[in-house]
Amino acid sequence: MIAVCIECWEEYNPKRKALGYKTCLECGAVNAQKAIAHKKKCSAPLFNKGAYQYVGSKEVAKWIGR
Ligand SMILES: [Zn+2]
Repeated sequence: MIAVCIECWEEYNPKRKALGYKTCLECGAVNAQKAIAHKKKCSAPLFNKGAYQYVGSKEVAKWIGR
C-alpha cells in the first residue's frame, strides 16, 4: 500500500496513513506548527511541542532506515 501526501504528493510512511494522516511527516509537522502558533496566543505548550518532536524524530529514523 502506497501512501501519498495530499499537500506535496510525496510518498510517506503507510503507517501514518493507517493512523489517519493524509500528509507526509514534513507537511504534518508544518500543520502542527501552525496549530501551535495559533494556540500560542493563549499559552506556550512547550511540553506538547517537545513530545511531538520526540515522536517525529523517532518516526523519521524508522522511515530513513527502511
Ligand atoms: Zn507532504
